[in-house]
Amino acid sequence: AYPPNLDWATPIEPRPLYHLLDDAAARFGTRPCIDFLDRQFTYAEIKSLSDRAAKGLQQRGLQAGMRLGLFLPNCPYYVIFYYAALKCGATVVNFNPLYVEREVEHQIADSQTDMMVTLDLHSLADKLEVLLGRSRLRALILCPFADSLPFPKNLLVPIAMFRDLAHIRRDERHIAYADLIDNDGAYLPPVIDPLEDIALLQYTGGTTGVPKGAALSHANVYVNALQCRAWFANVSNESARVIGVLPLFHAFAMTCVMNWCLTIGGLMILLPRFDAKRLLSTIDKKRPTAMPAVPTLLTALLNRSDLGDYDLRSLEFCISGGAPLPLEVRRAFEAKTGARVVEGYGLSEASPVTCCNPVHRPGKTGSIGLPLPLTDCVIVSLDDRRTPVKPGEVGEICFRGPQVMLGYWNRPEATDEVITDGLLHTGDVGHIDEEGFVFITDRLKEMINASGYKVYPRVVEEAIYQHPAVKECAVIGVGDHYRGQTVKAFVSLKTGQHLTAEVLQEFLSHRLSKIEMPKLIEFRAELPKTVIGKIQKKVLIEEENAKSQPA
Ligand code: AMP
Repeated sequence: AYPPNLDWATPIEPRPLYHLLDDAAARFGTRPCIDFLDRQFTYAEIKSLSDRAAKGLQQRGLQAGMRLGLFLPNCPYYVIFYYAALKCGATVVNFNPLYVEREVEHQIADSQTDMMVTLDLHSLADKLEVLLGRSRLRALILCPFADSLPFPKNLLVPIAMFRDLAHIRRDERHIAYADLIDNDGAYLPPVIDPLEDIALLQYTGGTTGVPKGAALSHANVYVNALQCRAWFANVSNESARVIGVLPLFHAFAMTCVMNWCLTIGGLMILLPRFDAKRLLSTIDKKRPTAMPAVPTLLTALLNRSDLGDYDLRSLEFCISGGAPLPLEVRRAFEAKTGARVVEGYGLSEASPVTCCNPVHRPGKTGSIGLPLPLTDCVIVSLDDRRTPVKPGEVGEICFRGPQVMLGYWNRPEATDEVITDGLLHTGDVGHIDEEGFVFITDRLKEMINASGYKVYPRVVEEAIYQHPAVKECAVIGVGDHYRGQTVKAFVSLKTGQHLTAEVLQEFLSHRLSKIEMPKLIEFRAELPKTVIGKIQKKVLIEEENAKSQPA
């Protein structure tokens, strides 16, 4: 069994998730917990702020069983409100702050989000403001980005993007952070059943692409943080400094930056967005020891001509996940930094980590690693998606473990499709070798994996179909040297209609986030069809693959 220091037979006791923060504050009170730009917060400070935010939320009506949306880039408020919601017995709903209004509106309705937290930036708050009137959202909590944090206003975002907090209306629907936390922090502790109560709704396309909330229990997320601590035992200690540049609203960084850090009393160095130069200078200056990353982030750093100007030797290890890690990228990054790059694997439905390569000994190239403690990996036949196959044979990769979600929020049928007898079907295809290492070879799900961001063709196609000139469209992922995959749309037009790629992209910019936007658009008189008239994406995919093969 691996890792050697872990007793595989002993389950981790499931507990309410907010105990992670409270236990950490009790053990590491005066240690720095968060470094954000030029300000540090201790464990005790973060706990106290989350207690006060919890009381403020309770005073404004957030009760057990309700949902609090976080519409935030990485910043201390994310950690404070994540834990404040849990202390109210409420569920956290993660929102991608890059989402356009339509996407936010859909997710608010689907998740039944009651209140949301955001920053006083036009780019964020304005999108929610318009929804106050027409969705079920009953209140917005507005956090000052600049004023509470001592850094020049124009350092990260242009001045024009700030809203003037003094002019923000303060009524029962607009709550200023300063007013919310103006209390003694004595919130009413909730009664939580860690195995049944939902801590988090994590939105994902799953296998089909319809956005759904993976309902993760307190135990799911709590146990996954401790599984990671066990796995990374030799790099898990109080002197760990973890750089959080991946977004916390995605399950990868939520667990592998925030929650893992809390289990070990480490320092999380948060960056509000990815900028290669800023990341390099932050590593140079703040000396992180660990960096969870997606492969394209490593590539972006390697591609910089000024890489040699920065001292990156503090990095001891990087966890790479979210998308396949090319061997050359791993080797080049290890050679440049001296850090070990360890590939892991997860999915939103599993809180998310299920597999990782060993940290104490060599892993296997091209493998996503071994299942985490208390986690079983089963490969089932692609024919019936039920019968386990022999070792070495290819099938659908499935997992069973304490981190596997309760199910999709309000979607029992979709849940029954992916969880059978406690076994989570990932929609990824692969095999296990004789030593237990898992390899991915293909995907059953339609998902396009662009730098670890998941794009579902169906979502993009629905947006394209809204254009009145479009007759038919098909969206696929095509190979991209940098992103791994990028979005390509094939479009046919109604008779007599004209449309250019630029005009269509402009139309889509209000309907799709940047990552979903088709970078490539090809117009065709007709799209390939089967005899019954179904668009044959397979043909388009094969044509694209043939183009990328050397002649
Ligand atoms: P998400 O729910 O956004 O975390 O996406 C989960 C999906 O990302 C998985 O089902 C895989 O298809 C993909 N994925 C995650 N980690 C890896 C990896 N190391 N290699 C290949 N694909 C990965």
